[in-house]
Amino acid sequence: MTNWGRPYVPRTDELLPALLDQVEAGGGSESVWRELWTMLCGEGETLVPGSPAALPRLVALARSETQALEMAGAIVRSAMTDDQGELMFVESADAIAELRELVDRRLRTRPADYIWGFRTLLAIERQFHWSAALGDFSDDFYAVPCPHCSLNVTIAIGGYGTYSARRDWDAGDVDRRDLRPASVAELDATGRWMYDLAVRDGQDRLAEGIRYLMGRAECPRCASVFGIADEYAAANLPPLSSVRLERSRTA
Ligand SMILES: [Zn+2]
Repeated sequence: MTNWGRPYVPRTDELLPALLDQVEAGGGSESVWRELWTMLCGEGETLVPGSPAALPRLVALARSETQALEMAGAIVRSAMTDDQGELMFVESADAIAELRELVDRRLRTRPADYIWGFRTLLAIERQFHWSAALGDFSDDFYAVPCPHCSLNVTIAIGGYGTYSARRDWDAGDVDRRDLRPASVAELDATGRWMYDLAVRDGQDRLAEGIRYLMGRAECPRCASVFGIADEYAAANLPPLSSVRLERSRTA
């Protein structure tokens, strides 16, 4: 058995199979689901030991259980920073392919928590930096280094406006410049996929936000114009993911 060197692991190892047995047998009371959620997804964006092994069982349950679907999605979204996550994508390829279908089907119903399913699909596509960072563009801010002068540029996309600015802790966002959204034709393959998905499901604000995110910004200090997504990805892509992306391109 893998030694994870963490004190709560023996408890997980003992309890997890029994809890999964219970929900599979139809005994998934609210408290059982809550316990599973705490056990498998309690660490937010970190993959919890035990969750990769639980994923195929959760995906099978997700055919009829929304809770299992949400839990499987959270596990996949948390797989970005971890070797175990990389392994999970290889070992549970079939389960992850089915999860993609199930999440896609749910998104077509336009659920209120649409963005979480959207982010799960992004993680399945190994767009981990967008999966982790993308908001619903109600009031989103991104910090992106200017590639020319290294100023940490604040990018606003949402209810506060669509602008690049220098963030001043006293004066707020100053030296604002309007963002230059990408036209639909200018979107790269990933951007176009994200945009089309949002449009398909009637998520207009998300679709518009993606055009801004994939567009260009002017640096408020040196006035150079740069691609927001390129600079954001360069600054935020986990080191492992770049390896994965290369591999998936050559696969
Ligand atoms: Zn600059």
